[in-house]
Order: sequence, then C-alpha cells, then structure tokens
Amino acid sequence: MKTVNHWIDGKSVEGTSGTYGPVTDPATGAVTTRVAFATAEEVDAAVAAAKAAYGTWGGSSLAQRTTVLFRYRALLDAHREELAELITAEHGKVHSDALGEVARGLEVVELACGITQQLKGELSTQVSSRVDVSAIRQPLGVVAGITPFNFPAMVPMWMFPLAIACGNTFVLKPSEKDPSAAIRLAELAAEAGLPDGVLNVVNGDRIAVDRLLEHPDVAAVSFVGSTPIARHIHTTASANGKRVQALGGAKNHMLVLPDADLDAAADAAVSAAYGSAGERCMAISAVVAVGGTGDELVAKIRERAEKIKIGPGDDPTSEMGPLITKDHRDKVASYVRGAAAQGAEVVLDGTGFTVQGYEDGHWMGLSLLDKVPTDADAYRDEIFGPVLCVLRAGTYEEGLALINASPWGNGTAIFTRDGGMARRFQLEVEAGMVGVNVPIPVPVGYHSFGGWKHSLFGDHHIYGNDGVRFYTRGKVVTTRWPDPQDGGVDLGFPHHR
Ligand code: NAD
Repeated sequence: MKTVNHWIDGKSVEGTSGTYGPVTDPATGAVTTRVAFATAEEVDAAVAAAKAAYGTWGGSSLAQRTTVLFRYRALLDAHREELAELITAEHGKVHSDALGEVARGLEVVELACGITQQLKGELSTQVSSRVDVSAIRQPLGVVAGITPFNFPAMVPMWMFPLAIACGNTFVLKPSEKDPSAAIRLAELAAEAGLPDGVLNVVNGDRIAVDRLLEHPDVAAVSFVGSTPIARHIHTTASANGKRVQALGGAKNHMLVLPDADLDAAADAAVSAAYGSAGERCMAISAVVAVGGTGDELVAKIRERAEKIKIGPGDDPTSEMGPLITKDHRDKVASYVRGAAAQGAEVVLDGTGFTVQGYEDGHWMGLSLLDKVPTDADAYRDEIFGPVLCVLRAGTYEEGLALINASPWGNGTAIFTRDGGMARRFQLEVEAGMVGVNVPIPVPVGYHSFGGWKHSLFGDHHIYGNDGVRFYTRGKVVTTRWPDPQDGGVDLGFPHHR
C-alpha cells in the first residue's frame, strides 16, 4: 500500500505518530493508500522550517520569486495529466473535471507570476514642504492553509502561490481524504527551484489543524471547508491573534425567470447541480422557478439528468463519478429518502444506484426533488451530493426573498433575457458571487473568490487583489530630507506646511 508522508524543509518526511488515515479509491471502495497523521511536534517542525526559510525568502527580490513561479507554472502545465489522475484516483471526479480543477488552480499561479504589478506600492511627493509619503506592503511571515477534500489541487493553489509570491513561507494541511495531489504540488515547486522550507505540507486531522491555529509563529490562516469548521477556525485563530480568512459551506440558488431560455437554464442546472457529483461549494443545489415555469423546467431537467452516464472517473465515457466516502454517500441518500415525508415530490431517486463491476464504489444516482418546502432538511442543509431541489416562487420578489433568507451566501445565478431584471438581481441578492446566465460564477484568478454570511468568516476573499492584501501588511513611510534652512524644536502635532 502506498504511504503519503509529510513534506518538510524541501523533502519527504516519514510520519512518526504511528497514526495513519485511509485513502480510498471512491470508484472501487478499496483503500489504496495510507496517509500519515502529524503530531503537534511534527507541525512544529514544519513551522520551524518555514520560519527559518522566511529569514531569506522574506527578503528575496521580486525577480527571484517570479523566476521560480514562472518555472513552476511551466512544470504544472507539463504535469496537468498526472495531477488530474492523482485527483481522480482519490477524489473520484471524472478526468476532464480534474483537468479543469488543475487549470483553475494554474490561473492563480499565473496571477502570482505577475506579483510585481500587485506589490508596486504608492508614493505621494511633497505632501508637506520637503516631505514624501510612501505606502508599501510587506509579507506576514509564516502562513498556514487548511483545505477541503473537494478540490485537492485547486484550493491549495488558491492560497500558497500568492502567499509565497508576497514573500511569506507556507505550511499546508490538505484534506486527509485525498492528500496526494498536494504533496505532488510541493515536489514540483521544489523542482522549480523554490528554496527548502518555503512550502511545507503536513498531513493529518484536527490535531495538526489545532496546533497550527495556536502556534505563536503562524501569522495568518487561510481555511476552506465546511461552515462549522470554518467558524471554529475563525474563532480560534482570531483568539490567538492571527489574521484569518475562513471560507465555509454553501447552498447556491439559481433563479429562473419566466422569460429565460428554459433549455439553456435546464442545461445549466444539470451541469451545475450534478458536476463533480454535486461536491462543489459552487454547485447549484436549489433552483427557484418563478411564475409558472416550474413544471416545464422540471421536465427539461429530468430529461437531461436521466441521460447522464455515471461511472469511474478514469473511464472517458463517464460524466459523473462516485462520492468521496461510503459514509458521505449514505448521508446524502438519507436526504433523498426523507424528502417525501417532509413534503417534497421525489422526481428522480438516485439512492440504491450502483455500477456493474464496481459494486463497492460510493455510487449515488442523480436525484431531483420538486416543490421542496423551505423547512425540509433537503433544503435547509448543505447536502454536498448529486441532489437538486426545485422550489417555486410566484414573482421575482418572492424568489429573491427566499434566496436572501438563506444563511449562506456563496454563489447564485439568475437566468433571464431581461437585462434590467438581471441588474436588479446583482444589486439586491445577498451573495458574494453572482452569475447572469452563468451557473457557476467562480471568479477568474485576478478577481477574488468569496461568499457572504455563513459562507465566509473574515474580511478578505481569497486570491485576486484580496488575496494579495490578506498575505501582506501595509506600512506607510513619511520621509523628510531636511534642507539646510530647516531646524528648530516644535512641540505641535505634525501638520502640513
Ligand atoms: P471539512 O470542513 O470537513 O474539512 C476541511 C478541512 O478541515 C480538512 O483539512 C479537515 O482535515 C479539517 N478539519 C475537519 N474537521 C476538523 C476539526 N474538527 N477541527 C479542525 N480541522 C478539521 O470540509 P470537507 O468535507 O473536506 O469539504 C467540503 C466542505 O467544504 C463543504 O462544506 C463545501 O461547501 C466546503 N467548501 C467551501 C468552499 C468555499 O470556497 N467556500 C470551497 C470548497 C469547499
């Protein structure tokens, strides 16, 4: 069986805890790998390596950093297929989807290659007689990233490329369910010439996470995962004096107005609800059909959903793969099984689905629930599986009120041909990312990603300009080079002359 170790100070380091977690191939249900779980002492070793590396990397030139990042970009580009295969083997998503994940992560590496533009600072000359003011941004030191299972390569790449481009050093704690991609990302960074200790990976569970949250040498924490853990990370890291951004879970709504192209809306709903088996924080999990469009829209979604081919992620004919674990599959299925008793109409029931020859895989068919009451568990909870809820609203205002009553505010989308209504929606909806006829509005690398309400705790969204601000701190320098005529004592508060 393969073992995944830690990556500390530029090399693979075997775990010493004696505790390992199982990594499963979701398509077969077989445990293929064991991953070492770090002790607090092993986390300390990674932080110490990062702190030592910061002594040099923090003062490295922008040219040195971008030289490494451009090489890293080229290496990642050359290893897209290999990374996608690692993702599929441990996460289960289909290969084309895994390639898409790598491509979206690469966007942030490309942004990091252009860090020279982002760190230019500001200068005001002659703010007072012979006085200039400059504003510069400097790195924080050692920063940590804690990432979820559903994007084992992309979400780490939302964090560390920008953090290290800004001059920080990094300790990553990837998901214990699919850790191999993160280790490969670190190996490739070393191959690109990143100095030892600048990027470290510790594997493990809450023991490793909690040590990072309390470690005095960790200046900031980026987290992406579920809402309860995001809240814990935000509270604990803040209480320990750290800067923190904690992105949480979601329940993303798609509002379909009566004038929308219903075929396009149905295509979008099926793609966004069932892609990656619904295990995306930007998945559409609730469609709100406005003004009598419901019956036709549900029929169109059903017709498309019934044609989706489910199978192993490495089979090029598969469109949707298995779920991450058996326990998670069973939990997802329980929402579908309980939906009818809570007032929903079960249009498609994906429970009990299996793939011939892969009977032990974590399979779940596509499920479609119509007329779901807002107090049903299937609507109230983040299911994180291939289950789409359809709700009905009489008017735009009713649909908007329903969306804004949700405790989450990650992404949302409107489908309409009416530009005026789309404009109203983008201003009135309470969510951090809005799509207009775009079902999964994940911002490009040079804009920032983040939700509102229970989908993000902290002030900064991730990557883009917010990412640079998060990984740097500002300093303002006021300078006077005295003229020979200057001089004399003045006890007054400095003011402009
Ligand atoms: P998770 O919260 O269970 O785990 C995320 C990370 O936290 C993992 O590294 C895990 O080891 C660690 N962790 C888990 N329990 C912990 C605990 N008690 N104490 C300390 N650390 C702990 O999330 P997941 O199941 O891996 O990922 C799915 C969730 O992530 C979904 O809720 C999804 O919406 C969310 N997500 C959000 C975004 C976003 O950008 N908002 C993106 C991707 C995923």
